[in-house]
Amino acid sequence: MILQRLETAGFEAYCVGGCVRDALMNKTPFDWDICTAAKPEQIMHIFEDFQLVTNGLKHGTVTVIVDRKPYEITTFRTDGEYLDNRRPESVFFVKNIEGDLARRDFTVNAMAFSPLHGFADLFGGRKDLAAGIIKCVGDPEKRFMEDALRIMRMLRFAAVLGFEIESKTAAAAIKTKKLLKNIAAERICTEFLKLLDGKTAYEILSEYEEIFAEILFLPFKGDFKAAAKAAAEHSGTKNRLAVLFHMLYFEPQEVKKAAEALKMSRDMTSFCVFVSEHFDDKIPANITYMRKAVGAYGKERMLSLCEIKNAKEAIGFLETIEQKKLCCTLKELNISGGDLADIGISKGKRMGKALERILNDVIEEKTDNEKNSLVSYARRLVEAGEI
Ligand code: ATP
Ligand code: MG
Repeated sequence: MILQRLETAGFEAYCVGGCVRDALMNKTPFDWDICTAAKPEQIMHIFEDFQLVTNGLKHGTVTVIVDRKPYEITTFRTDGEYLDNRRPESVFFVKNIEGDLARRDFTVNAMAFSPLHGFADLFGGRKDLAAGIIKCVGDPEKRFMEDALRIMRMLRFAAVLGFEIESKTAAAAIKTKKLLKNIAAERICTEFLKLLDGKTAYEILSEYEEIFAEILFLPFKGDFKAAAKAAAEHSGTKNRLAVLFHMLYFEPQEVKKAAEALKMSRDMTSFCVFVSEHFDDKIPANITYMRKAVGAYGKERMLSLCEIKNAKEAIGFLETIEQKKLCCTLKELNISGGDLADIGISKGKRMGKALERILNDVIEEKTDNEKNSLVSYARRLVEAGEI
């Protein structure tokens, strides 16, 4: 519909980039990017009856919302001059698709398709896709010097798609690896996390260790390849990252520094620190221990830790806790501070301690978690002088 509208208005239009790559691999594309000969004002005019997002306007991009989904429509363009091996300062619109494809990073990302015009594949993207090869468009050294983030993208695509990196492209990436210092940590981090979840993450990590040494916090205390291997044995980005970091740095404090250096989210950072702190814990296979641990650290974290430690029985207990909705936290306790105040427990420190004690006893099954039983249980503890 979008392509047709643009063509009807007299402008060539194609799907381009990642969506063409994914569609050719029989994967459902994450999003559909469109490129066209129409200029931004013309795009806006053609889609004036749609909701538009125009914050990408200076790069020639108008986002059109169709059926609540965003479609980025970008005018054919080349990039202006690159400063500091980062994004170009300016962009220039060009007349045809060829110029637009030439600015793209890898041959498999430099294909366009339209039902009307068929494929525009100037750089052999389909051939490289079929052969499983990541190869720069044009001179790889020049392309990495223009934008060093492409080095990380190269590694990411290779790991996620399970592709080989063409030899000149690989050599150029190694040669220009120091330029990664000019790239914002957040952007490197995004690519690194995607890479880590890739199917050939281990192969890529171990083969390109020298590039990773440019972006990761140094020094490594553990062996890099062994850490990469251990990480790849787990599944999911978070678990892999936490294992990798622990095996590289050993100390929770060092893990924290490493996560912060890559500007990881706060959640990811504290998760990695948590795993590092508990990496050598023995997880007793008993439900009381698991309930207390869930209370202290949360279900999600305990599940990850158990996965990492391959504690199958403990995972079974977590499932039981979930299914039976077993009480593990103060919030789930069916007695409140107000109820305790009614039986004469003063607010503040004493109250906090009393609640903790009752929670502990519920978990140890000394009382059930029903309001009436809890109130009489609390009374007994008060009489015994225990709270
Ligand atoms: P994903 O599946 O992760 O979205 P993608 O290939 O669509 O992969 P995007 O970052 O969405 O990646 O970029 C869309 C397209 O823009 C790419 O396919 C590529 O053609 C081009 N591109 C993106 N980043 C760069 C870059 N740094 N240098 C050159 N071309 C780029
Ligand atoms: Mg994309």
